[in-house]
Amino acid sequence: MTDAADLVAHAHDTRIVVVGGGVAGLVAALECAKVGMQVTVLEASDRLGGVVRSAEVDGVSVDVGAESFATRGGTVAALVTELGLQHAIVAPDAAGAWVAGLPGGAAAPLPAGGILGIPANPFSDDVRRVIGWRGAWRAYLDRLRPPLTIGHERSLGALVRRRMGQAVLDRLVAPVTTGVYSARPDDIDVDLAAPGLNNALTRTGSLQGAVAQLRGGRAVVPGQAVQGLDGGMTRLVDALVERLTDLGVELRVGAPAREIVRDGDAWAVVVDPATGDGSPAAPAAADSATPAPGDRVPAHAVIVATPEAQARHLLAPVSSLDPGSVTAPVVEIVTLVVDAPELDVAPRGTGVLTVPGSHTAKALTHATAKWQWLREATPHHILRVSFGAQGEAPATEALDDDAAAALALSEAAALLGVPLQPSQLRASHRERYVQSQPAAVIGRAAVSAAGRAAVHAVPGLAVVGAWLSGTGLAQVVPDAIAEAERVRREALWGGSVAAD
Ligand SMILES: Cc1cc2nc3c(=O)[nH]c(=O)nc-3n(C[C@H](O)[C@H](O)[C@H](O)COP(=O)(O)OP(=O)(O)OC[C@H]3O[C@@H](n4cnc5c(N)ncnc54)[C@H](O)[C@@H]3O)c2cc1C
Repeated sequence: MTDAADLVAHAHDTRIVVVGGGVAGLVAALECAKVGMQVTVLEASDRLGGVVRSAEVDGVSVDVGAESFATRGGTVAALVTELGLQHAIVAPDAAGAWVAGLPGGAAAPLPAGGILGIPANPFSDDVRRVIGWRGAWRAYLDRLRPPLTIGHERSLGALVRRRMGQAVLDRLVAPVTTGVYSARPDDIDVDLAAPGLNNALTRTGSLQGAVAQLRGGRAVVPGQAVQGLDGGMTRLVDALVERLTDLGVELRVGAPAREIVRDGDAWAVVVDPATGDGSPAAPAAADSATPAPGDRVPAHAVIVATPEAQARHLLAPVSSLDPGSVTAPVVEIVTLVVDAPELDVAPRGTGVLTVPGSHTAKALTHATAKWQWLREATPHHILRVSFGAQGEAPATEALDDDAAAALALSEAAALLGVPLQPSQLRASHRERYVQSQPAAVIGRAAVSAAGRAAVHAVPGLAVVGAWLSGTGLAQVVPDAIAEAERVRREALWGGSVAAD
């Protein structure tokens, strides 16, 4: 295949099926459709966007899943720009977040200038306010301690505990990792969550010196520099859907893929009839040799873009991917609209992270304090209260919606330090998510590498999504672009998934 016209014709004859219509699947679909491939997206639920979703609460359309994107790498902003939405990019309010659950039930602003909560100077006023004098002196020992194992500590929790003590770990680092990654510091891989920190520690001889050095030069603060979209993150999904439609992509919702089967040299995806709620209408056929009932969608290449459990279920029978059992944190987000003028002053900035164990809620976002567009959309206050983390089921799990809203309201009052009565609650919305494990969790990189290798070994199969790339749009988007590029290359030049 050398001639450009032949390549174009070849692309047009290549059928791609993307299973899963979250951002990963939509971006992969876009990359394939751009070169003229025939693309079908199969989405199990009744709407596209996956975790990026909104709901109307008290007459306002609010993000009830992802509400921002990390600016790291610039790929999400580039996508937003490619879709013509660059004018809608907005920065959050600069007030910053607080940490609650300090001794005596106190709360304080999260100190600026740290990395994953690790401070550069334990004696600075904002840090001492959180960890106290005792914590500050203990953290200072980091400078005096012989650097016995420097450069070799893998666990963030172990590193911080050993060098700077329990107060820094519990009150500064754990709230950040739990709030941002839904994971305990002990489970976080330093090299992945804070690249360069271990090396800087070797150079400077202390952890605080390492933070100061990294912050002094190019700031490396994973997960902190974020932007949003005026009107909410679902505008990204709307724009993707519009572009995909323009490119002739077939977008099927209520179309859960049940299995992937061989179809001669190519593939077919078997789709269950829609049930309206996205769940399969019938159990999967136990024996894949028996033709399963349901719609068969032919494909030269299949890109699986579902969460991990579904991806393993679909791909294990056709690759060496381990069907494995998947443990992933369940989180619930309860969005509250409250009539509370006392919140006009944004008493806890843009939101609150918690010292693990101090509150039933994991974190709170004061959405109307964080986003100006939302403030302009309602005279009331919008609060997002999150429950659940790795190894800890959400406290709302067994509650009905009203009881979950009541618990979220009382947690919000505690976290914001402002009494909130049930009569002040105008409306609420509750959403449950099974979150992917963050890429920075120890051992996760090996799981991802093994997963990719197993799928890539089979021509015509590809896989994208947060379970491989790590959670967060800044991880998911570039990964989906890269995997779609692999599919395009394989289809157009490699021959293995090429159209006949
Ligand atoms: C509560 C919450 C808040 C978050 N906030 C942020 C944030 O503010 N900023 C940020 O950058 N990231 C955030 N994230 C992370 C980010 O939203 C996700 O990493 C990202 O959206 C995942 O995209 P995805 O396409 O991989 O998966 P998903 O969005 O989960 O999409 C997968 C899709 O596959 C579909 N599917 C499943 N099985 C099948 C099947 N058999 N057939 C067809 N379709 C199927 C699902 O219905 C779903 O639509 C948040 C995550 C959560 C849970």
